[in-house]
Amino acid sequence: MLETQDKTAEAVSETIMSNSYAAQNASSGLAPFSFERKAPGPHDVQIEIKYCGVCHTDIHFVRNDWGMSIYPLVPGHEIVGVVTNVGTHVKKYKEGDLVGVGCLVDSCRVCDNCNEGLQQYCLNGMVLTYSVIAKDGKTVTMGGYSNNIVVDQDFVLKVSDKLPLHAVAPLLCAGITTYSPLRKWKIGKGHKIGIVGLGGLGHMAVKFAVSFGAEVTVLSTSPAKKEDAIRLGAHKFVVTKDEEQVQKVAGSFDFVIDTISSAHDYNLYINMLKTDGTIICLGAPPEPAQVAMFGLLFQRRMVAGSLIGGIPETQEMLDYCAEHNITSDVEVIDMKDINGAYQRMEKSDVKYRFVIDMATL
Ligand code: NAP
Ligand code: ZN
Ligand code: ZN
Repeated sequence: MLETQDKTAEAVSETIMSNSYAAQNASSGLAPFSFERKAPGPHDVQIEIKYCGVCHTDIHFVRNDWGMSIYPLVPGHEIVGVVTNVGTHVKKYKEGDLVGVGCLVDSCRVCDNCNEGLQQYCLNGMVLTYSVIAKDGKTVTMGGYSNNIVVDQDFVLKVSDKLPLHAVAPLLCAGITTYSPLRKWKIGKGHKIGIVGLGGLGHMAVKFAVSFGAEVTVLSTSPAKKEDAIRLGAHKFVVTKDEEQVQKVAGSFDFVIDTISSAHDYNLYINMLKTDGTIICLGAPPEPAQVAMFGLLFQRRMVAGSLIGGIPETQEMLDYCAEHNITSDVEVIDMKDINGAYQRMEKSDVKYRFVIDMATL
């Protein structure tokens, strides 16, 4: 009897409490913060967050690098956890399921791109997991540095119990962001690919490109990462501060994937492409890039960009990882150590993704 009364009380509650870490402004850093989330509606899944990866995008948002942050700001879009409650119309998930949430929590669902499963390119504007206004026009989305989250079932991913959960979290952004362009450009056997920046995205790009059969060269500013690059499966390692090493790879790659988070010279990497080669830009430095046209014209080279991945492809990637035993190399941290982790990432000192253990919140 008592139990029934409790359940009824829960059902009528319109909000749930969330404990989190948030930034209050661009220079505050992150500190404990409690707030109310919308209780799950008929199509929503409530998730107890177990781990959340730390993406460099979180740092860009916290510092307002892109001029679009809304505060208080709870970052985090590499979320894995357990379903604790579902709405009445939820068919895909039940209490106890292992699930993930990435960078997207909603989109229009009717435009051509949404119909093709490319929700990240929704023509009416997708809804990011944090720091944007939701479709209701008033709620600001709050991310995964939190003990719980409520997400529409269509934006929740199934997570296999075959892989260690903490090492799966980064797949929800770093994983799909690198998997998607490799698939789009059909990169694999017979291709030579350069991967620029061995951080969260870079190390996943190495793992996938190797798994797809490409010959992989890591292009890094950190000589100390060579051993790790080779252990991750890379065939070659080039220190990009060493002119002689850079000269040796001029005109040699079919593709370059650039994951650098801050301002840098794109021309250095464009000149490493073969005729008809493509540089795929994933990193998002706030400053516009200066590209010398001759580097493109003379060898008919191309510059491309790619943003995360849609929901069906994210599920495909998670399934691929479960089948091929691919996870992220992570350093698990306590929630209170997040500001220090940001400082280390800004010095390129990360091996190769920080993941927050939410039990420490
Ligand atoms: P990360 O873990 O901090 O790694 C970035 C790596 O870039 C560093 O470890 C470093 O590698 C290299 N690097 C940093 N500053 C550099 C500089 N000035 N010159 C040359 N190399 C430099 O970052 P991440 O989480 O992988 O994210 C990388 C970027 O991708 C961020 O801008 C993020 O916002 C963006 N991102 C984009 C998408 C998308 O959908 N396109 C998705 C997620 C993230 P080395 O030590 O090897 O040089
Ligand atoms: Zn991310
Ligand atoms: Zn759409």
